[in-house]
Amino acid sequence: MSGTGIPQTRDGRAASYDVIIVGAGFGGMYMLHRLRSLGLSARILDAATGVGGTWYWNRYPGARCDVESMQYSFSFSKELQQEWSWSERFAGQPEILAYANHVADRFDLRRDIQLETRVTAAHYDEKARRWTISTDRGETFSAQFCVMATGCLSTAKLPEIEGRDSYRGATYHTGYWPHEGVDFTGLSVGVIGTGSSAIQAIPVMAEQAAHLTIFQRTPNYSIPSRNGPMTPDYEGPWKSDYDRRRAKARTMRTGILYDASDANFGINDISAMAVSDEERRRVYEQRWATGGTSFMAAFNDLITNQESNDTASEFVRSKIREIVRDPVTAEILCPKDYPIGTKRICVDTDYFETYNRPNVTLVDLKATPIEAITPKGVRTSAGEYAFDAIVYATGFDAMTGTLMNIDIRGRDGMALREKWAAGPQTYLGLMVAGLPNLFMITGPGSPSVLSNMILSIEQHVDWLIDALAHMRASGLETIEPTPDSEVSWGEHVNEAGHRTLYVKAASWYMGANVEGKPRVFMPYIGGVGTYRQECDEVAAKGYEGFVLAPRDAPAVAAE
Ligand code: NAP
Repeated sequence: MSGTGIPQTRDGRAASYDVIIVGAGFGGMYMLHRLRSLGLSARILDAATGVGGTWYWNRYPGARCDVESMQYSFSFSKELQQEWSWSERFAGQPEILAYANHVADRFDLRRDIQLETRVTAAHYDEKARRWTISTDRGETFSAQFCVMATGCLSTAKLPEIEGRDSYRGATYHTGYWPHEGVDFTGLSVGVIGTGSSAIQAIPVMAEQAAHLTIFQRTPNYSIPSRNGPMTPDYEGPWKSDYDRRRAKARTMRTGILYDASDANFGINDISAMAVSDEERRRVYEQRWATGGTSFMAAFNDLITNQESNDTASEFVRSKIREIVRDPVTAEILCPKDYPIGTKRICVDTDYFETYNRPNVTLVDLKATPIEAITPKGVRTSAGEYAFDAIVYATGFDAMTGTLMNIDIRGRDGMALREKWAAGPQTYLGLMVAGLPNLFMITGPGSPSVLSNMILSIEQHVDWLIDALAHMRASGLETIEPTPDSEVSWGEHVNEAGHRTLYVKAASWYMGANVEGKPRVFMPYIGGVGTYRQECDEVAAKGYEGFVLAPRDAPAVAAE
């Protein structure tokens, strides 16, 4: 530590930048690219050995995006979107990671990306009006702005089960998968968890393992992806109409066009209760056959009207009962105690079919809970299961976990961990009062995980770049939300959440999967299009709700 209290780099100096970006995923890379156009110096710090963020870490078998690849991709470069070719309707993890690497090379980003560097702290120096960022390598960076592009699902969560460390076999977490892959051939494997990751991994692992035992606490609704190779007939119209389609997607609730050739883009703008039973069934059958998350757009009130939701939930249960041959197993796989879509809807390839295999066993933890992990395997109230390997598909400390793991301190030493003890508080999901010049990409309080993430990343970065350009042009040095604007945005986010059925499920959206985490609906469900308008209006009104302070002057509220 120096006399100023700022920790030093190995050579004794804090490396100085205009902007430090934490995270080399799609958010961090696009931010870096745009910052260069403003002429600002920036450096990305990331703990991984490569770029790609969530697609770098989540290498489990079957990992795949559930947003179609023509849409889960950057729109900022016409050349990139024309020249890149996706091989499948839904891209797999290796292809998305290859795309991330292509972006890093194509836009010459690597020279400003420092890997194998975990940010441990970010402290605001009020006198210097700069952030001091510390890393696990003992380095220190000084920056006027700090951008947390840390992802929403980047802190893997192991379950708090007694004896977890006593297990003698191999263990894996889906969100932290070995780079060299894992060969389960001939092994007896236990999988704990049945969320999106498990639902993708289980069918692939079942083909390899001698026996797969799945421990399910809560069953999930899953829709077949109907994934397949990209065809010229599909890709062509997208590429020739990309600008219009991207522009339209930005106005949609989830930022996704479910059917680009349809006049209403795949949204059936009618209540499920407004049609006959036969018509409703026909619509669900058609969505089931098309596949993917468009199932939730089959009617316009599936997420707000319990009666409507019940019809969709029952339809999926009927499909599970049709597919799974053993009626007892089928019943265990049928979700019954929360509305469809209120835990993130899953998209699969042959998930339910996998339970018809002779080498797959389902254990219902509601009936026989896990008591402990033992040196041999898993012990439930019904007995012990011995395994060669255990796969934890137990999810993430979502949206806030990664930010809370960094010691972030703002004005007057205010610690983010303390401020967010009762749940995240943000203005627009972009900034936090008391943390001047610190931005979050797709933070809690923005549509984020309820949307096409790449589209939402672009919206946040573009908005921030405009804000920074405005500040530079106006001689402004700091930006920070007022406490009042943060409170009223929080109320708006909360009210929007409570107008839906989402709050009825014990989901990671609600923080329910982490013991002791406050139950708050974290993302903003107002819709991507509405949210964009709200952000744009704030900017048009001179950054209403923010305090913008000129250089060498006390902070003043924006008019
Ligand atoms: P997740 O949805 O949180 O699922 C975790 C699973 O582990 C749940 O089934 C949970 O059961 C179970 N679990 C947790 N603790 C347990 C315990 N102590 N004992 C028994 N079971 C336990 O996590 P995820 O599957 O990794 O998915 C997280 C999110 O990542 C998804 O919702 C999605 O947003 C994203 N994702 C997307 C894709 C895609 O694009 N296709 C793929 C993978 C992930 P409970 O439900 O009872 O808590």
